[in-house]
Amino acid sequence: MVNKATDAAQAGPTDEVMVSLYAAHQKIYPRSVSGLFSKWRWLMVWLTQIVFYGLPWLEWGQRQAVLFDLGSRRFFIFGLVLYPQDLIYLAAILIISALALFLFTAVAGRLWCGYTCPQTVYTEIFLWIEHKIEGDRAARMRLDEKGAGLEKFSKKSLKHLVWGLFALWTGFTFVGYFTPIRELLQNWAVLQMGPWETFWVFFYAFATYGNAGFLREQVCKYMCPYARFQSAMFDKDTLIVTYDQERGEPRGSRSRKADAKSLGLGSCVDCHLCVQVCPTGIDIRKGLQYECIGCGACADVCDSVMDKVGYERGLIRYTTENGMINHWSRSSMLRRVLRPRVLVYASILALLTAVLVVSLALRTPFRADVVRDRGVMSRIVEGGLLENVYRMQLMNATEQPQSFRIRARGVDGLRLVARDTGDADSIALEPAQSKWITLYLQVPDGNLEPGSHRVWFDVEMLGNDKVLEEKSVFLVPR
Ligand code: SF4
Ligand code: SF4
Repeated sequence: MVNKATDAAQAGPTDEVMVSLYAAHQKIYPRSVSGLFSKWRWLMVWLTQIVFYGLPWLEWGQRQAVLFDLGSRRFFIFGLVLYPQDLIYLAAILIISALALFLFTAVAGRLWCGYTCPQTVYTEIFLWIEHKIEGDRAARMRLDEKGAGLEKFSKKSLKHLVWGLFALWTGFTFVGYFTPIRELLQNWAVLQMGPWETFWVFFYAFATYGNAGFLREQVCKYMCPYARFQSAMFDKDTLIVTYDQERGEPRGSRSRKADAKSLGLGSCVDCHLCVQVCPTGIDIRKGLQYECIGCGACADVCDSVMDKVGYERGLIRYTTENGMINHWSRSSMLRRVLRPRVLVYASILALLTAVLVVSLALRTPFRADVVRDRGVMSRIVEGGLLENVYRMQLMNATEQPQSFRIRARGVDGLRLVARDTGDADSIALEPAQSKWITLYLQVPDGNLEPGSHRVWFDVEMLGNDKVLEEKSVFLVPR
């Protein structure tokens, strides 16, 4: 029996061939690299992490500037107070983000993956910690090959401890977007964090630790759907990290002083450094592969090799397929940026962003939702009045205390009573407060035919000319 996929081709006609669909994971030890793209990557790491870890600590007036308070169903984003009824804005932000991703991908390939995706950013940070504790690529490989011993134990323990603490801090920060972070810290300090907060801190920390410490490139290769459909957004004018085959081949090692032309060699000295720095472990010289996250590490290291051997930089570089084939200059490639596909994405993006900004600027600074209280039947009350009961949720979406006036209309003789709040003409709400109010509609008995009658509640914020109209029904029993 032949039980290896590679033996299948050599198997005879009578041999039973078993093809294994499983390939054991080969651990990747990316070599550290410096250069232009590495600097950009680290700049993005700093920027994204300063925003992520810093934002929940920012104050806006008396509250946290960005807080998604699921308990009270209010989202605070600086001066904006959003209620579940404003979910349309969040949906619009998500659509705009997706379109921006399409646009950037069409113009410059996997910029998101290589520079700002949390998976890339945290892998970069975890690799940096690993590098600081276990050493460079060769030292890490030696350490892993070594048998158990004090050095291995202490280095591995320290690395996992630092990773764990960093992951916990990340999980804590994540939960700090949903629970006021200062309160969360105080509760954590006295070990009194709520069960849900505890669960999410540890869950998010575990996900960060697992994804950035162990799964790394496997998330990009096997789990991320974006890697699979990005090719649909690429065209021949999309910027990608490319190896210049024409210039590099035939590859081969040579002495520094040797003349490549006389040896019949191209510029690639076959040093394999571009493979060693690649976080996904691929060889860019084999052409564009879906595993390539466009980080530019191979371009950086190849430039340093070209400097050392005295060749022109750019054997691996950001370029377009058309640019490479036609030997276009950078300006010729840039001229192709404004092509129909890009213009369509950019126009839709600009239009949606403008609509979102305008609708946010013009949105009513309060919300009202009314439902007829189904638990209370239509009833006759004092004075021979037929009464229906309603529950209204009134939401103040401003940062100041506000007073509201509610009126009802729709049928003759209709009267509105707000017994619990005292006066329907002046209902006070604290800044960003949401309040349930019981409202009573009364009509002289016999005024209306039995059945259902349409009524409207007009809600007005005093000092603001906007009026919200909420529909409901008044029921008259048969
Ligand atoms: S780093 Fe450059 S020179 Fe070295 S193998 Fe890769 S492409 Fe060739
Ligand atoms: S091939 Fe180059 S650009 Fe692509 S992931 Fe590897 S190192 Fe980054």
